[in-house]
Amino acid sequence: MRTPFIVGNWKMHGTRAEAVALAGAVRKAAEGAPEVEVGVAPPFPFIEAVSGICAGGRVKVGGQDCHSEAKGAFTGSTAGPMLRDLGCAFVIVGHSERRHGLGESDECVGKKLRAALASGLIPIACVGELLEERERGATEHVVRRQLQAAFEGLNADLAGRCVVAYEPVWAIGTGRTATPAQAQEVHSDIRRFLGRLLGDPVASTVRIQYGGSVKADNIDALMTQPDIDGALVGGASLDAAAFTRIVQFQRS
Ligand code: PEP
Repeated sequence: MRTPFIVGNWKMHGTRAEAVALAGAVRKAAEGAPEVEVGVAPPFPFIEAVSGICAGGRVKVGGQDCHSEAKGAFTGSTAGPMLRDLGCAFVIVGHSERRHGLGESDECVGKKLRAALASGLIPIACVGELLEERERGATEHVVRRQLQAAFEGLNADLAGRCVVAYEPVWAIGTGRTATPAQAQEVHSDIRRFLGRLLGDPVASTVRIQYGGSVKADNIDALMTQPDIDGALVGGASLDAAAFTRIVQFQRS
């Protein structure tokens, strides 16, 4: 069985004091959900403070991105080993705000995923289609292309450490969630495709999170789907009560 993994992506929000307070609330929420793995991805400047609050508890801390190189002259970037040094366990790569806002290519995301693995971080590889791509029936093609660039050539051991987040771009920050059936359809195709790329034993262990306007009132229905193994949560992860309810979801 795959352990559900729920991660809050705090993006570029909050102050240090707010991050510390929120981390304390998430630490408490995770104690009430012993069957669920919980993570938070604070803004880089607050990672160390949040790691301190989460130390010894059940909450994993992660980065929102990393560079594809381990060090070098890359002004403004953060390397995987630096995240490890601050206590991070995972890193998000290929978020749509970086793919579409900052022009990160599939190839670039693949390099970041490999850099994360080389640093001992669990990569959360985000994939997902634009609204226009969904409307012309290209969802499967786009998601498979992104997965292929991220995973091709990885050995089973490394691939098995990765997490995939399916995040339809039209659902991120819009309040428009994919229905559980729409999400399940893509999640099962992702697992099928990973099976082809990496073999079914690995594909059956890789956790696939759903992301896109996950809220306290839709998490239960999403988590009843067989291939939805957790969530990557943006806006609602900034609200301690909402994120607590999401972490403590109830499968009906
Ligand atoms: C995200 O940023 O990954 C995300 C899913 O955001 P939101 O939950 O706000 O849609």
